[in-house]
Amino acid sequence: MLGGTFDPVHLGHLRSAVELHEALALDRVHMIPAAMPPLRGEPWVPPETRLALLEAGIGDTPGLVADPRELRRDGPSYSADTLAALRRDYGREARLVMALGHDAFLRLADWRSPQRLFELAHLVVIDRPDHEAPLSAALAELIQGREVDSVESLMQRPAGGLLRLRLPTRMAISATAVRRRLASGASVRYLLPEAVEARIRRDGLYRQR
Ligand code: ATP
Repeated sequence: MLGGTFDPVHLGHLRSAVELHEALALDRVHMIPAAMPPLRGEPWVPPETRLALLEAGIGDTPGLVADPRELRRDGPSYSADTLAALRRDYGREARLVMALGHDAFLRLADWRSPQRLFELAHLVVIDRPDHEAPLSAALAELIQGREVDSVESLMQRPAGGLLRLRLPTRMAISATAVRRRLASGASVRYLLPEAVEARIRRDGLYRQR
């Protein structure tokens, strides 16, 4: 699972998802937009629109799936609930991975039921340019004894491990910068898939908050 606000999806998300799929030899990567992200302000566009942009961005990319399950729940989109649903779908023995960028990882101790995330899945932290910072004491305690140093050791169990991964392509693209550029009329070419940019232009999205 690669969850996020995807406001909007950009090539940093999509290239990371493709490389995760390859690096961990995953069956598929569920990209799951949060209907109501708990720890940040309201997204610029509604969840259905973010999902439609994600679907357009994924297109026919092998191994990537736009998963609408958080749009079907009421209330804040907690990843622990989403992982529990994926665990029910795939069964007790399946190896589940929740991937997140280093910036999101740094705030993990503030998430709802962070210990439970590790009961349900492995966590894979994707290195992201411009997001280096020391771990908080709460985060260090949360991950104590969980870190492994290879994909092979991670995949020996269904859940519970932590792997920090440097994917082959690191892209310093953020949705914040994309929104700013769109709002100011600057170019977003090659930051987003063409199909996503075309949809944004067609529907006049992100011109202002
Ligand atoms: P914003 O700028 O609005 O905070 P974002 O670009 O970080 O957005 P999110 O939707 O919040 O995008 O990100 C979803 C997940 O993808 C998070 O775990 C985030 O760390 C990760 N991610 C986002 N951009 C990149 C990138 N360029 N490279 C690797 N991971 C990324």
